[in-house]
Amino acid sequence: MKDFASNLNPFLSELEPDDAGLDREEVSRRYGISLENIMMLSRNENPYGPSPRVWEAAKGVPLQRYPNSRHFVKAVSDYTGFSEENIVVGAGMDEIITTIARLFLGRSDKALIPVPTYNLYGLAVRLCGARPVYQPRLPGFEVSKEITKDAKMIFLCTPNNPTGNSISEETVRAIADTTDGIVFLDEAYAEFAKKSLLNIVKEHDNIAAGRTLSKAFGLAGLRLGYAIVPSWIAEQYRRVAPLFSISSFSLAAGEAALRDLKHMRQNVSKIVSERERMHCRIEGANPSQGNFLYIETPIRSAEITDCLLRRGIVVRDCSSMPGAGGNHIRVTVGTPEQNDKFLEAYWSIQ
Ligand code: PMP
Repeated sequence: MKDFASNLNPFLSELEPDDAGLDREEVSRRYGISLENIMMLSRNENPYGPSPRVWEAAKGVPLQRYPNSRHFVKAVSDYTGFSEENIVVGAGMDEIITTIARLFLGRSDKALIPVPTYNLYGLAVRLCGARPVYQPRLPGFEVSKEITKDAKMIFLCTPNNPTGNSISEETVRAIADTTDGIVFLDEAYAEFAKKSLLNIVKEHDNIAAGRTLSKAFGLAGLRLGYAIVPSWIAEQYRRVAPLFSISSFSLAAGEAALRDLKHMRQNVSKIVSERERMHCRIEGANPSQGNFLYIETPIRSAEITDCLLRRGIVVRDCSSMPGAGGNHIRVTVGTPEQNDKFLEAYWSIQ
């Protein structure tokens, strides 16, 4: 057979593949636990789900037509207060991250990534043939204002996945003012935080802020994200993004979810109060502004993760995240019952 694989892009060999961790079925198969006894606290999903209005909205969708994002964009505009020309959409924020990286990064460019953080940034950078520069965070997981001058992109996640802390507005502004590059501000968890930095996009021509409906709105399965960007970036984005990547179902459901903020806020408030309860009860948990906790574990995180798995509790072992080391797990805040089960299991392991 000819060596067809030699046609692969050479930089693909350096990719660290993204790892969503075990899914429910795999845990069930490997550990012999029935599906209903498995608790997924590994993906920062919302345990309460979306507004019931999304089911109604999905009913009238004309499936013979290609999707039209106009109404969804209008709903994002009403929710964020930004004009439609500053809003771009994607099949999950993941698609937005990879598309924006493609807009700015080429072979041997550098992108600055304060770590630990969301793994996809590094992958998106490498997919462009560019190089991620992983910068360790300061104490308290703060991001340093000292940045490499030659970075074409800088990825700032606030609140940060997995550490949970927010970046101060002052730091984001200082970085955006210093760099000649583009700052991607990831606000996937903004609704769970005290403060959003979205408005600073108005004053900076080099900040693009990503958002998602996967977390606070409980729509991770629909793959729906948006970004607030300066209009010059929006124009370029629309040139390169796939035209119809978001399904009509997702757009209709997303619009309905954005029109039911009461539902979203009620769920966020339940999650935030549980987050604070858990934070107080877990030694080694970092204060969090997201829907998850970053926990420094007294024994290796891989070992703790495995012990929890045997009890049907799936959490994220952070050891595969650059900069996280081998002693951290990330646990999603679930319902009070789920959290109690987690706490009991976690305490019993040590
Ligand atoms: N950014 C961060 C920080 C995330 O944690 C995630 C999802 N886990 C995303 C972006 C991607 O979200 P989406 O589901 O919209 O692709």
